[in-house]
Formats: sequence, C-alpha cells, structure tokens
Amino acid sequence: MNPAKRAVVIGAGFGGLALAIRLQRAGIHTTLLEKRDKPGGRAYVYHEQGFTFDAGPTVITDPAALEQLFEGAGRRMADYVELLPVSPFYRLCWEDGYSFDYVNDQAELDRQIHARNPRDVAGYQRFLDYSKAVYQAGYVQLGTVPFLSIRDMVAVAPQLAKLQAWRNVYGTVARFVEDDRLRQALSFHSLLVGGNPFETSSIYALIHALERQGGVWFPRGGTGALVQGMVRLFEDLGGQLELNAEVARIELEQGRANAVITRDGRRFDTDAVASNADVVNTYKQLLGHEKRGRDEGRRLSGKRFSMSLFVIHFGLKRRHAHLQHHTVCFGPRYRELIDEIFKRDGLADDFSLYLHAPCVTDPSLAPEGCASHYVLAPVPHLGTADIDWAVEGPKYRDRIFEYLERHYIPGLRDDLVTHRIFTPVDFRDELNAHLGSAFSLEPILTQSAWFRPHNRDDVIPNLYIVGAGTHPGAGVPGVVGSAKATAGLMLEDLTP
Ligand SMILES: Cc1cc2nc3c(=O)[nH]c(=O)nc-3n(C[C@H](O)[C@H](O)[C@H](O)COP(=O)(O)OP(=O)(O)OC[C@H]3O[C@@H](n4cnc5c(N)ncnc54)[C@H](O)[C@@H]3O)c2cc1C
Repeated sequence: MNPAKRAVVIGAGFGGLALAIRLQRAGIHTTLLEKRDKPGGRAYVYHEQGFTFDAGPTVITDPAALEQLFEGAGRRMADYVELLPVSPFYRLCWEDGYSFDYVNDQAELDRQIHARNPRDVAGYQRFLDYSKAVYQAGYVQLGTVPFLSIRDMVAVAPQLAKLQAWRNVYGTVARFVEDDRLRQALSFHSLLVGGNPFETSSIYALIHALERQGGVWFPRGGTGALVQGMVRLFEDLGGQLELNAEVARIELEQGRANAVITRDGRRFDTDAVASNADVVNTYKQLLGHEKRGRDEGRRLSGKRFSMSLFVIHFGLKRRHAHLQHHTVCFGPRYRELIDEIFKRDGLADDFSLYLHAPCVTDPSLAPEGCASHYVLAPVPHLGTADIDWAVEGPKYRDRIFEYLERHYIPGLRDDLVTHRIFTPVDFRDELNAHLGSAFSLEPILTQSAWFRPHNRDDVIPNLYIVGAGTHPGAGVPGVVGSAKATAGLMLEDLTP
C-alpha cells in the first residue's frame, strides 16, 4: 500500500463515514467533507431546551456490520458507543384499538398470531423461512458486493428467479399469511427503506429476517452517539473531517478526478473521490460542468425515486408510560394510502405514522420527567406533488398532533415544550436530495443491484459512489454495506 495516497469522501452520512473509516484504516489519507455543521446526514441531531432529537434513523439493525468497522481497525465498538436492545421491536397499532407487539420471541409471536388467525401460525413460519432465504442470498451474500457489470447481474439471476424476486413484498407475504392485519404487519418494512410494499421486490422481505437474526438496537445517547462514535474512530485513525464544507464541484484532469472545490473556494487535491452526496446531485451539480455529469445526471433524473417524509420532532413535559420505543400507527387505509403517497399529486386526508419515543430506552434524551419524540408521515416527493410546504407544513403538523392526541398521546399540545418540522423541501435544500426524496432511488427490481448507480463510475475511473443511491440501497445496514463494496474497489485501485 502506498501511504501517500489520498482520498476525498463527500458527505458524512453513515455511508460516507463507514467508507472514510475503511479507507483511513487501510492507510489512505482520507478527508471527509460535510456540507452541514454536524455529521450524520439523515442521522443529524437537534438539541433544544435539554431535549435531544435524532432526525432520522432510530431502528438500528445488524450491529455486526457496525462492529466490523471498529474491529477492522483493531478497536472495540463498545469503547465508542453502547447499543441497547429494544423490545418489542415495534408496537403496531390500528385505529380500532388492535395492537400487535412485534417481538423476537417465537412463542409470544405465535400466541399473538394464533389469536388473530390460527392458520397463520404455520403460514408465518413459512414466511420466516422465505425471509431467511432471501436474507442469506440478498444480504449476506450480495449485500456488500459491487455490481459493476451486467455479467454480475446475470450471475445472480437464477437465484433471484428461485426466490421469485419479481413478486412484490405484500404479494409474497399474502402467499403465506391470510389475515390482513398480519399482512400489513409483515409487509410495511420496505417503507423503512423507501420501498412501496406493493411494488418493491420481495427480496426486501429479508428485512424481517435481518431483524429477527440480529435484533433491533438503539445507541445510548441516541443515534447521534453512534455517529459520534464513528467520527471519533475516524479521527483516532488520523482521518480529517471538515464540517461546513459543501463541495461545489469535482475537478477532472485527463478524465480522472483530481480535486474537489468547496463552495467557499477551498481546493482539496486527491487521488480518488467518493461521493456520499445525493447521487443525482453528484452528477448534475458537482459534475455539471462535464459531459459525463450532464449525461448521467439526465439519465438518473428519469428514474423513480422513493417517497419523502414529513417529520415533527417534539419535546413534552410529561412521559407517557404506555408508549413503546417504536410505534407504527396504521391508518384506516393501507394499499390505497401507499398508492397515493407514491403516485398522487397532493396530500391524502388520512395518514399512517411512525412514532418515536426514545426515552423509553434512554431517559437521558430529555430533561427529568420529560420526553423527546418524533413522528413521521410518509408523503409524496416534490416530483409527485409540488406542495407549498411553507403553507401546508404547519397545517399538516396540526392535523398530525390532533390525531396523535386522539389516539396515542392525550394532552399532547398542552404538554408541548418545543417542536420543529422537517419537510420534503428541507430534504431537498438541507440534504441536496433530488426531489426531496427521503431514501433516494426507489428500490424496485429494475432499479436494484446492477440497475442502481454503480459504486465506481463507468467512465471516470477514480470516482466512486457510496450510500443510499447505490446497491444495496437505503437504511443504515444498506449504506454501511455499500461502503464495504466501495472501499473494496477503492483499495484495489489505489494499491499499486
Ligand atoms: C426520518 C428518517 C428515518 C429513518 N429511519 C431509519 C431507521 O430507523 N433505520 C434505518 O436503518 N434507516 C433509516 N432511515 C434511512 C437511513 O437513515 C438512510 O438511508 C441513511 O442514513 C442514508 O445514509 P447515506 O450514507 O446515504 O447518506 P445521507 O445520510 O444521505 O448523508 C449524505 C450527506 O452528504 C452531505 N452532502 C450532500 N451534498 C453535499 C455536498 N455537495 N458537499 C458536502 N456534503 C454534502 C449531506 O449534508 C449529508 O450529510 C431513515 C431515514 C429518514 C430520513
């Protein structure tokens, strides 16, 4: 390994951080440039009046993939961050009062499934077997490999065919389980990575096995503490993180990336560039002065993008002991609502929500006796519905608060200490996300694996892409897996 080699990683999301750690620990002098004043990307943190609000990921799965980052550097993750188990994984609730605690205890799951529909106990077992098979093939074997050529895709086609990857997640669940509530309970997971369960490949049913296998965790101090742990590891290894350093362009010389220029005019010369920034933005803006950037930016703009999210972070002066850490609040409609979120120009009258109550696991995230929360509603991205969020956001917030008060948190507005909202416009403007999508390219079969943007650009040999826009896709395990694939390529290329 040539110790003089340098790399620049653009964007300090989980993907950028994981890649930067892997490069730095291999002896590449790595500079991580982040636009915002804090690292984490979607996993940004707000501190307000003693409350800590994680902005994004809260369901931490596959801790082994995170541990690898530390172990590969000869460190122990436990010295940097502590992961606490969460149980139930989620409480799933419906408006008529029915609820299902999704736990990692087979007997308890069977009991709840039996109470709903005795025949589904055996059906669930068959679904779990299927989920384990796709987890093994789609995640363990293929989740961290780069798909660079069509040959890589052809090679896995028989496996995909055997697993009936052309079916959608909901359709697959419905083959095994009869009860509609249970079908919802076992198919909503793809929404967590931006996939419509009625259109996303059944490969994404692997999330169920991923959670059963590795558990659901939450870092002590919040997801931001995990980000901080990764930053500390990167810096302990000698890596350089620059905040408030928005990259404006990637410079090419003789077809190779040789520097990046920040918006405030700083120049970082480098042997390789990896972008964790939004993939469309990377090509359209950062490489917009080059034909490759314009062509690829145009091609990618024509793809389908995941929905956006409307998020309200709020602090209450009271704790509600009946809440679990993660609650999924199903509204009156499932398929129809999801259809509207992905396709309709406008906001639906009803909604399904995810409610985060992290103080259940870690009370230190709020002042004594108080509670931090966020609630999110999936909403159309700006290409589907060009909503004026400055006007609609506060109205939508009020509707959600009123709904939460009615069904989940009585007296919410009386107990409110502080709150803030994050809309699709913020995803676009703060995170440079194309169309304000919360999860980048939609994970449908024709936009998966080789069909997603490649970890190494097809034309510029030392330009790499990492994060949700690449294979395997969004979600913390996904982007940490993409970092492993990208690091493998970069180290191969940078090693003489
Ligand atoms: C509200 C929400 C909840 C979620 N919940 C979960 C969950 O519970 N579990 C889970 O596994 N996943 C969850 N996800 C998905 C997961 O958070 C994301 O898929 C993942 O974090 C994306 O990581 P990334 O590496 O692609 O980068 P991102 O987090 O998108 O970070 C990219 C970074 O690049 C920076 N950047 C952009 N342009 C530039 C530029 N020009 N110059 C410098 N920097 C730039 C951005 O500021 C940002 O920091 C959630 C997502 C959201 C939005």
